[in-house]
Amino acid sequence: MPQAVRQTIVEAARHLVRAGLNQGSSGNISVRCDGGFLITPSGVDTAELTPDLVVMMTMEGTWSGRWRPSSEWRFHRDIFQHRPDVQAVVHCHSTAATALAVLGRPLPCFHYMVAIAGDSEVRCAPYATFGTQDLSDHILATLGNANACLLEHHGQIACGADLNRAMAVAVEVEHLSDIYLRLLPLGEPPRLSQEEMKKVLEKFKSYGANAQTGADDLLK
Ligand code: 13P
Ligand code: ZN
Repeated sequence: MPQAVRQTIVEAARHLVRAGLNQGSSGNISVRCDGGFLITPSGVDTAELTPDLVVMMTMEGTWSGRWRPSSEWRFHRDIFQHRPDVQAVVHCHSTAATALAVLGRPLPCFHYMVAIAGDSEVRCAPYATFGTQDLSDHILATLGNANACLLEHHGQIACGADLNRAMAVAVEVEHLSDIYLRLLPLGEPPRLSQEEMKKVLEKFKSYGANAQTGADDLLK
């Protein structure tokens, strides 16, 4: 099983690059597994990434082997520890979400799909240096029970009940950020009401993949 998960992580990392959501060695991906979690190595260009380079880490933050885990292992570990519902975490520097994050602005409820991230807006975590416990603390406080947040001057994070869902949230946050940025020069776009967002959030609980009771096949 861990070998299959390693392969899936590599494929997800390549997909992010192909979809234009990441480049070079930016970003990182992790999946919870027995004894801890698997995470992409630090500073490795996705083009060079292979399953054997993916690092197995314990929840105590230890690892073995030649490759160092992502410098952001703290926030991956901390999300897994605080969110038992989360099985996978995706972090990337996608263009539109990062542009919004540079402004320190949340993605508001201007479109119903914002609810895919589990709340009525996608909040933006305050800046802290990459790889630090401060950054992880800001992320945990900002994320709450949602499935995505922006990182000021940095990028975005998405998480979910399996890697496919975390990836889908990352892709959608980027798409919505792109639309929002196109609207901003015309003035702040109108918002959906909180009441409507509550309805959509409720509907998403039984929409598509979320309707399945079983988690990702890979994680069984
Ligand atoms: P790593 O290569 O160490 O995962 O760092 C990339 C990154 O996005 C840091 O925030
Ligand atoms: Zn980053």
